Amino acid sequence: MSELQLWFSMATGLKVVENLKRNFFNAIYFETASEAASYISDQISPGMRVAFGGSMTVRKLDIREKANLKGAILIDHGNPDLNEEQRLDVMRQELTSDLFISSTNAVTLDGKLVNADGYGNRVAAMIFGPKRVIIVTGINKVVENEEAAFKRIELLAGPMNMKRLNRETPCTSDAICHDCKSVSRGCRAYTILRKRPAYTPMDVIIVGETMGL
Ligand code: SF4
Repeated sequence: MSELQLWFSMATGLKVVENLKRNFFNAIYFETASEAASYISDQISPGMRVAFGGSMTVRKLDIREKANLKGAILIDHGNPDLNEEQRLDVMRQELTSDLFISSTNAVTLDGKLVNADGYGNRVAAMIFGPKRVIIVTGINKVVENEEAAFKRIELLAGPMNMKRLNRETPCTSDAICHDCKSVSRGCRAYTILRKRPAYTPMDVIIVGETMGL
């Protein structure tokens, strides 16, 4: 990354952190993904029940492997060995985990988290249930405001995630959101966290690198 890009990411990231703090989130900026991964790993202790929202960003940080090495109990509906019934059961367990780790579809410059979710498990866990939540996001997901956040979901995150999940939705043909009526539609529960939910301690980590969709 060039000096100029580093400067821009840090200036933007610090502005978002400042505004997230005003909205009662515990916000932190890290220049690199590896610094963010170390911080998250340090929050995990042996026997802790650690759960994950479906997230390319979290996958990139190798948190599952780090949590496993630290002796945490992993609650992960992304485990490919689970059948459908087991997956749903694990999703319910994730809602009462000690630590829930996920990303967000967008974070606004004024410090709000905006998401669209298919099952609702990810956004539900971000709001209430887990004893603590860590949200980690790349600088590429910073947008100007709520309107831009929903545009990001419509123009980028929605179609890209549907393609990644191999869904039969119109956006996987032409990369354009059609606000579809497909039974495979993945954009169903839309949430905005304008302030940190009162009973959910939450770290929001902004990383000065491009991460996730
Ligand atoms: S076309 Fe449907 S599934 Fe695809 S992004 Fe739009 S609402 Fe979501």
